[in-house]
Amino acid sequence: MEKIKMINPIVEMDGDEMTRILWKMIKDELLIPFVDLNTEYYDLGLEKRDETGDQITKDAAEAVKRLGVGVKCATITPNAARVEEYNLKEMWKSPNGTIRAILDGTVFRAPIIVKGIEPYVKSWKKPITIARHAYGDVYKASEMKIPGPGKCEIVYTDAQGRESRELIHEFDGPGIVQGMHNLNRSIESFAHCCFKYALDTKQDLWFASKDTISKKYDHTFKDILQEIYDNEYREQFEDAGITYFYTLIDDAVARVVKSEGGYIWACKNYDGDVMSDMVATAFGSLAMMTSVLVSPDGCYEYEAAHGTVQRHYYNHLKGEKTSTNSVATIFAWSGALRKRGEMDGNSELMKFADILEKATIDTIESGTMTKDLALITSMKNPVIAGSEEFIKAIRVNIEKALS
Ligand code: NAP
Ligand code: MG
Repeated sequence: MEKIKMINPIVEMDGDEMTRILWKMIKDELLIPFVDLNTEYYDLGLEKRDETGDQITKDAAEAVKRLGVGVKCATITPNAARVEEYNLKEMWKSPNGTIRAILDGTVFRAPIIVKGIEPYVKSWKKPITIARHAYGDVYKASEMKIPGPGKCEIVYTDAQGRESRELIHEFDGPGIVQGMHNLNRSIESFAHCCFKYALDTKQDLWFASKDTISKKYDHTFKDILQEIYDNEYREQFEDAGITYFYTLIDDAVARVVKSEGGYIWACKNYDGDVMSDMVATAFGSLAMMTSVLVSPDGCYEYEAAHGTVQRHYYNHLKGEKTSTNSVATIFAWSGALRKRGEMDGNSELMKFADILEKATIDTIESGTMTKDLALITSMKNPVIAGSEEFIKAIRVNIEKALS
């Protein structure tokens, strides 16, 4: 069989621990035998980041900007324990944070749905994709404890030194106060990413906030999204047969629980933080969540939502057999390959992405799965496969599909 050709490369970002082990297995068993893999390789493993003073992470992000598509393995975000474990020169920043900042992107997280792993919410039939605005609000707030009676104000001083003030509260006793901000520029980027991704995936887009109470802050989010939608996307949405709608956050929560799924829920920073964990858990497993970073100018970086699965890695190092779920990492690859195919007009590559995903889902639905899924499946007598066995079982299904 002739291997599928790739016209342009994708950016390949290798990572750490157990997911690094899976990364190689996926390439060796599921990709290289079938595709003439064309990647620009960046090793974002922690040793290499330390060695290059984290320059490699920045280079990788720039490469995604240049080539338009990337795929990333999970990476360690160093903390004090990791600084010691890896004898690091510095406590390097989160690679995902660095890449997101360079691409100015929004992260979309969606579950992979298979028969036998049922969502806790019975009505959910299709994935719910969460888009989290990842700048500002409570995550970049200033706070004060107010010790006793006194007046608290917001003061804005413009470039000419003119002040405007807004009273927060006349305290008659101790209390607390918080000042937070956001930027129109960042909200606009978020809006473009969300509208583009909705068009791209042909799904409705919901956005919700609390504009009835927050008449300037949240209302600005609502207004910016509406204005960009009306001016730049309404027609395209109508042509694609999808809708954008705004509602109050409490109404959205109620609708989501009663819905069938199959849409994108755009959230402000805090709502996205909370709701993405809720939705991921309710769909069954963190190991089945995909994640894609989309930049406002249309670059895509795919990855699994989970981390490097450190506990399994230590077992692997001790020579113990592991059963780590590679599904979200496989879907990161299929997502990137499909997008590359789409951008290059390479239908063979797009078809391969479909085959890879179907082979993965078929493997699980026929009863062979990793331990994390075996523990929650409604299927009787699932076969628990080791990390490598599971990937090899998928390979058999790809070979069947291609022959
Ligand atoms: P984690 O790697 O997501 O794993 C937490 C636990 O979830 C695992 O111990 C395992 O549970 C289960 N799990 C997650 N993915 C799984 C999979 N594919 N298959 C089977 N089980 C899976 O989170 P962590 O242990 O808190 O973090 C480890 C490292 O990952 C940290 O250094 C963190 O900085 C990094 N991280 C990276 C990313 C990223 O690059 N996107 C995201 C999050 C965390 P059991 O142990 O019960 O089997
Ligand atoms: Mg969270």
